[in-house]
Amino acid sequence: MNIAKVIVDVPASSINQTFDYLIPDKYTDILVAGMRVIVPFGPRKIMGFVVDKATESSFDSLKEIIEVLDLTPVLTDELIDLGRWLAEETLSLYITAFQVMLPQVLKARYKKELERMTDDKLTPELEAFFAGRDFIPYEELDNSVISYYQIQKAIQDGDVAVNYLVKSRITKKQVTMIKPNREPYLLEEVYRELPGNAKKQQKLLRFFIENPQEIEQKKLMKKMNTTRSVIKSLLDKQLLIASQKEIYRNPYDDSAFEKTEPLELTQEQKEAITPIRRSVQEDQHDVFLVHGVTGSGKTEIYLQAIQDVIEKGKEAIVLVPEISLTPQMVNRFKGRFGSNVAVMHSALSSGEKYDEWRRIQRKEVQVVVGARSAIFAPFKNLGIIIIDEEHENSYKQEDNPRYHARDVAIHRGEIHKCPVVLGSATPTLESYARAHKGVYKLATLKKRTNEKDMPSVEIVDMRNELHEGNRSMFSVTLKEKMESRIAKGEQIVLLLNRRGYSTFVMCRDCGHVTECPHCDIALTYHKNSNRLKCHYCSYEEPMPVRCPSCNSDLIRFFGTGTQRIEESLVQLIPEARVIRMDVDTTRRKGAHEKLLNQFANKEADILLGTQMIAKGLDFANVTLAGVLTADSMLHLPDFRSSEKTFQLLTQVSGRAGRHDLPGEVIIQSYTPEHYSIQLASHYDFVQFYRNEMNTRKKFQYPPYVFLTLITVSHQNHVTVVQTAQRIAQLLQQYMEDNTVVLGPTPSPITRMKDRYRYQCMIKYKNEPNLRKIIKKIIRQYDEDVRKNDLQIHVDMQPYQLM
Ligand code: ADP
Ligand code: ZN
Ligand code: ZN
Repeated sequence: MNIAKVIVDVPASSINQTFDYLIPDKYTDILVAGMRVIVPFGPRKIMGFVVDKATESSFDSLKEIIEVLDLTPVLTDELIDLGRWLAEETLSLYITAFQVMLPQVLKARYKKELERMTDDKLTPELEAFFAGRDFIPYEELDNSVISYYQIQKAIQDGDVAVNYLVKSRITKKQVTMIKPNREPYLLEEVYRELPGNAKKQQKLLRFFIENPQEIEQKKLMKKMNTTRSVIKSLLDKQLLIASQKEIYRNPYDDSAFEKTEPLELTQEQKEAITPIRRSVQEDQHDVFLVHGVTGSGKTEIYLQAIQDVIEKGKEAIVLVPEISLTPQMVNRFKGRFGSNVAVMHSALSSGEKYDEWRRIQRKEVQVVVGARSAIFAPFKNLGIIIIDEEHENSYKQEDNPRYHARDVAIHRGEIHKCPVVLGSATPTLESYARAHKGVYKLATLKKRTNEKDMPSVEIVDMRNELHEGNRSMFSVTLKEKMESRIAKGEQIVLLLNRRGYSTFVMCRDCGHVTECPHCDIALTYHKNSNRLKCHYCSYEEPMPVRCPSCNSDLIRFFGTGTQRIEESLVQLIPEARVIRMDVDTTRRKGAHEKLLNQFANKEADILLGTQMIAKGLDFANVTLAGVLTADSMLHLPDFRSSEKTFQLLTQVSGRAGRHDLPGEVIIQSYTPEHYSIQLASHYDFVQFYRNEMNTRKKFQYPPYVFLTLITVSHQNHVTVVQTAQRIAQLLQQYMEDNTVVLGPTPSPITRMKDRYRYQCMIKYKNEPNLRKIIKKIIRQYDEDVRKNDLQIHVDMQPYQLM
């Protein structure tokens, strides 16, 4: 018998296992693990992943696979194993683990077509099948004499391709290609006969005589500085010929990148890269932590290590935080490795993402630079994995499967026997502690490559400002420094620490705060639309004129959003030209990039924004960085709040004075004595690490213990409380003695989208059976989860405690 073991697309823990299906004869030769299939499941037809094949089954009366969706597996064998591991590790379902590894396009059923990729003769059967066409609807295969095996073979030989039609084919990108229509010597003859005033045509002909190849029309125009009409006149004379060619939706124009060469490394860089290179050469798995201040040349180290990997014929994954996946960052990699780089981030359309993924799958690139999910790139021969800004929260997925890209990286690094490099100016305590213990190998870069000092940092005590009668958001010092920069034509970056700020609406008479009717948080005031909006669900309502509680008309908005800061900034320094960057101004695709370009072109003096401006930006002309309220997130109910504050302040400081002009940083604070602010102002990470480790030890937080967060939610308050209590009891009962189970307590946001939320936190040092126990407990609620809309989320490595 021919049996396929299939993980089906039914997200329920009782279905979280393989099911056996018979492989129909027509598919026996082609079906392998990693392909998607359509199978009957109860009354339905659903999608599934083949994870294995077998010759026997312990079940009778198996059903047959209805359809095979792929002729090339979408999951490699390694990714199938990785998916299994990921599901176990994060306590999620196999199906969710597989799906998170694939581009969106492959999660749904799309129409497919076969495309002829070659002008060479195909086999007679295939020639008859294509019958002169370049594209054929995939379904025609079913009724033809062509076997799936034949087609699969043609695909492997590169003669035929399967396209998933994300939209209609029309939307696929076509470009016009131009090539000479005659032999060079014939063109030469024409060239001489052209009238002397046809200079432009001559120039173009000369080009094709010397370069008798096909070239994209747009590039040709740019290169020869010529126009469409000149090309057209040669086309009309049939000297040139035009054709349409479909191209990948490559969002970056590879020819636009200036090629860069490896730089001579500094002593510090050499010391850091040498052991990494050794691991690459010796195919050895090690984890390196490169701790280096901004501008110390970490990226150059990555580039040169990747160079080695490429030369060995292997592949590299580089993760950077979504937000710093800026054109500047992409340029560095494309500049060094050109079209050998695929880029993956969320601003790409699903078609673009799929194209980039396919370039990896087809082995057309050796390097991928991308955000979190690029860690699943289907490379088969990894030589290095790099995670830049390893402390960034965006590496943790806050949705099932709740994985951390660092863990996946290290797991893949072990499998591929290749180094994993973590880089940061402010590593997480977890990583630094591991480096300290020798689990990771530490390399420290203390100097900037340009030998410039880090900018000097001045802390301004905002309490004094208040005492002296300055009620504005800007200290006198900051104001003066901004003015002097503007006068000199230099630029300023201003950070508003958004968290802890909101523009909520409060009644001055009775103190009533308008909250979202579905979530437990205050609504945020949006000035443009004069409406109140919830940041968790999409609820909104008009700004009330009177207090809904006491009917007073003294209802006002409070707090300070970027928009209000911008207004008071312009009042304070009327000549300042300000660019505001926050979620509101960057929502549209490309907006982020556009604002940054404007700032780079000096169309503004001040870049004002939230966290998103703190990262990865590199502007030569910025000489002042200001943080408006450094402590606004120090007091959040999160044990990482000091660490996050330290990271943010260090990062902002790195924005100023990166080049020739010296930089300066102003940090405004209401608690300037706090160690995370003090130590950030001296760039003293190591001391911060020591202080913070003491605190973590005292209160028993990571890295001294591990945490697991279990959140229960349901519309009915009583159901939530009872379920959470029962879960906590069971946990207590099964856990080791020195494990602590906290709760249940209401989650910091107790109601979200009309669902009540309670949580239990498990703090443990060693709990080998933890996953098994949690799984068993959750299984008891399977019925309620499926039919009763109960939700139980397990986070094995919580970062968001809200
Ligand atoms: P980081 O990633 O640590 O912030 P980068 O790799 O971006 O540092 O380096 C900062 C700047 O120094 C960049 O402009 C880079 O081109 C330059 N740079 C890096 N290494 C060298 C070197 N060995 N010699 C000269 N310039 C270098
Ligand atoms: Zn009121
Ligand atoms: Zn809401």
